[in-house]
Amino acid sequence: MGDKEKLLEIRNLKKYFPIKKGLIKGRGNQVKAVDDVSFNIYKGETLGIVGESGSGKSTLGRMIVRLMDATEGEIVFEGTNIEHLGTRQMGAFRKEIQMVFQDPFASLNPRMRVGQLIGEPIAIQKTFNKKERAEKIIDILGKVGLTAEAITKFPHEFSGGQRQRIGIARALTMNPKFIAADEPVSALDVSVQSQVLNLMQDLQDELNLTYLFISHDLSVVKHISDRVGVMYLGRIVEIGPKKNIYDNPMHPYTQALLSSIPVTNFDGKREKIYLKGEPPSPSDPPKGCAFHTRCPNAFNRCRIERPELILHDDGQSVACHLYSAPFTNV
Ligand code: SF4
Repeated sequence: MGDKEKLLEIRNLKKYFPIKKGLIKGRGNQVKAVDDVSFNIYKGETLGIVGESGSGKSTLGRMIVRLMDATEGEIVFEGTNIEHLGTRQMGAFRKEIQMVFQDPFASLNPRMRVGQLIGEPIAIQKTFNKKERAEKIIDILGKVGLTAEAITKFPHEFSGGQRQRIGIARALTMNPKFIAADEPVSALDVSVQSQVLNLMQDLQDELNLTYLFISHDLSVVKHISDRVGVMYLGRIVEIGPKKNIYDNPMHPYTQALLSSIPVTNFDGKREKIYLKGEPPSPSDPPKGCAFHTRCPNAFNRCRIERPELILHDDGQSVACHLYSAPFTNV
């Protein structure tokens, strides 16, 4: 991504949640939901973030759109660190950065008609009169494939797919540059999922949007992403161009995740890799590489030293001792 322009730079971002004293004895008293994560998001791209439940991907998304404060780290949006901005200072950036949620029904006020839901953020801008506001609402509804008839209806009168279109329309009202979408199609039927994904791609082309697309579903992420980051226990373990990640995964965890979905590569098959056990608790992650308790390739060094994310060929970075310099301390 050398000559691409950065929209966001995430630097050493951490989110630690305190645990009530006395609940866990011994090691620390906090859950490291996101632990020292750094990456860039480039203008016009879709960066997919995948990981199992508890990997920290949703927490990461909420911090980036500033719905949640970080414990440490920087979120640099077009050159400005927005992480520590207060509500007033954040105002100028708020309209540029929006979020689409998994459950549009829960995120849309059930007592408000669609016209109000979409018109509310437009009214706050105070730059449009009543007629212009109505035209803008109809224009945005048209962009997400809904007609003006939707204006007078309530969210419960729509299907799941239509409600997600309304959620996307609401995110678009401020003409954002960046949208973080957290599992935006997970609650939808498979047939509707592709419609919403295609809509998001069309809107991205039309409005030059940049997306962070968070999902546990590797097939969905493959469909929409330009680059993909894989999270495990609060850290990015591999990140790179979609083609590299899906055709040549380097990290054993990425290899295991991908082995569980149907793949059409040159030999038409990929052997399924079965991981041992469940992911460890983020409140008490294993020392060394956090994946070593489940990794089929783990060796001594993995139990002692945490691997750093190292850039390899063609923009693909991986945090695994299998690919790093020899361990010199033992
Ligand atoms: Fe597996 Fe070791 Fe690589 Fe971790 S560092 S993924 S345990 S081989």
